[in-house]
Amino acid sequence: MTLAKGLIERIGEAGGDAPDHTAALQRIMESVDLEDLGAIGHRVVHGGSLFSEPTLIDDEVVATIEGLVPLAPLHNPAALSGIAVTRKLLPEVPQVAVFDTAFHQSIPPEGVTYAIDAGLAAAWQIRRYGFHGTSHAYVARETAALLGRPPQETNVITLHLGNGASACAVRGGRSVATSMGMSPLPGLVMGTRSGDIDPTVIFHLHRVAGLSIEEIERSLTRSAGLQGLAGANDMREVERRRAEGDPAATLAFAVYCRRIKEHVGAYLAILGHTDAITFTAGIGENSPTVRSTALHGLSALGIEIDESRNNRGDRIISPDNARVAVCVVPTDEELEIAEETRAALRP
Ligand code: ADP
Repeated sequence: MTLAKGLIERIGEAGGDAPDHTAALQRIMESVDLEDLGAIGHRVVHGGSLFSEPTLIDDEVVATIEGLVPLAPLHNPAALSGIAVTRKLLPEVPQVAVFDTAFHQSIPPEGVTYAIDAGLAAAWQIRRYGFHGTSHAYVARETAALLGRPPQETNVITLHLGNGASACAVRGGRSVATSMGMSPLPGLVMGTRSGDIDPTVIFHLHRVAGLSIEEIERSLTRSAGLQGLAGANDMREVERRRAEGDPAATLAFAVYCRRIKEHVGAYLAILGHTDAITFTAGIGENSPTVRSTALHGLSALGIEIDESRNNRGDRIISPDNARVAVCVVPTDEELEIAEETRAALRP
């Protein structure tokens, strides 16, 4: 059960909530009752190939996460500073790292191997890792519960559609395919990230358009996706402009939904059969239009949406007799991190 929640944003930025991570964590600690604190769970974005489970943090684990910084230069350093500060302030409290990549370690080699020079890939740890694992794991399990089925006998395609977005094929509680890759850039269209593109776009922008690698990275991660196509990274704004007939927003919305459909088709083929397709996160939980557009025209595959259920915000939005249940399940990554942290402490 959640007793308190909070958010500290734009740490270290002018006008942000806290000047640094130490101050941010001190503010959190002032506002929660530390008497009963049994453990601290840290979300760590990149666990590379080394972590497939939540892991009790010690000096060696910290050093290993540090070694993964080249794979996640934007994300892992923030987690490391959080870990350093809480270990210093609360040295007696056990700390657990919960990795966004861990759930996807069950994907078979053919699902994570890029068909590039194998020597280069091995030397530089280049492969698909996948992210949002905490959310996909939680939502797949909750979907099985919603359908009254044992999770180990339930196949689910989970669609996490927030600012970041990814799809996952879950067979009996284990990830077997996911849309993000070595980084959280590929796959679905996101708020400001491109999702899948031809890598030649990068060579072209560098060689022909004269952009530096840094400029291209910034463009594909911060000025692409809905932002790049429609000039707005917020799906509510894109939907509002689309309803007014704005052509850029209309195209952005169509590209967004088609990319989801392409992944649903692929993952249906990988699974052979799915019991459910589940939408989650800000857009997945709140946009009936995205849900019905992304799954439109799939009735031959047993996938249908009951529009009155969809618009009403029901948990199950497919008709009663549908072969595939279409579900809306709110994600709760903090709760899942807390539960995984507790599980990691059990002997
Ligand atoms: P994060 O990945 O940062 O946790 P969220 O899961 O909160 O993000 O998702 C944010 C996205 O959800 C934004 O694009 C926002 O526009 C979208 N969203 C929230 N409410 C709605 C809504 N009612 N209709 C459409 N999109 C929505």
